[in-house]
Amino acid sequence: MLAGCQHVTADTPGAFYAWDDRKVHCAIDLDTYARNDLASVETGLDRALDRGEVVELYAHDPGNTVSWDELEAVLAAVQARGLRYYTYADIARGAQPGPGVSLSFDDAFIDHWLTGVDLYAKYGAKLTFFIAYFDQLSPDQVAALHELANRGHAIEAHSVMHSRAPLYVEQNGLAAYLDREVVPSIDVLRAEGFDVTTFAYPFGARTAETDAAILQHVSLIRSVAFTWSGITTDPCPD
Ligand SMILES: [Zn+2]
Repeated sequence: MLAGCQHVTADTPGAFYAWDDRKVHCAIDLDTYARNDLASVETGLDRALDRGEVVELYAHDPGNTVSWDELEAVLAAVQARGLRYYTYADIARGAQPGPGVSLSFDDAFIDHWLTGVDLYAKYGAKLTFFIAYFDQLSPDQVAALHELANRGHAIEAHSVMHSRAPLYVEQNGLAAYLDREVVPSIDVLRAEGFDVTTFAYPFGARTAETDAAILQHVSLIRSVAFTWSGITTDPCPD
């Protein structure tokens, strides 16, 4: 048993990509508050290895929402199984299928993300960073995104102001959501030279309508396999 753990990664089917034609991906949270502990994550790594799937993991702020030690333990567990890292750009561009891990970080914790570059390199980890609040970044932080990209990590879009998509659409309409929250967050990264392939929903909150609209602008979408607020809400499509 996984004492004290709410979730068993291997039993969260939405967090596994089986190299089908799925466009809306879902990741499972590594942040400490999600109580998805190492034993749970290891069940997911084992499943990925057994089935040739990609287990999709995400977190936010290394050193805060997940400790560096916990993160390194996950990277070591990935290495011990010989799993490959796939960025969302790799998947979008048709990478060679195989058992692997997709590990992403969300929002704008760029200074802390950059702190980890030697750790990622030690384990051969290629990560995806989903950027929100780009217009609030300092020039040094924008330079740090280029540094991450130059090291083989993917820089992708995570909205302008981190709005919850279904609520925003309800209040302002779908066109406004696209025009204010989605498209500018993609365009600003492309203008910086990042080859954006994927949009991650804030909070994983989505609808089939927003999926279809966003997929006019990117190849893939990332949602979450359960929300930070509890396993009772699962935004991942079937
Ligand atoms: Zn976010």
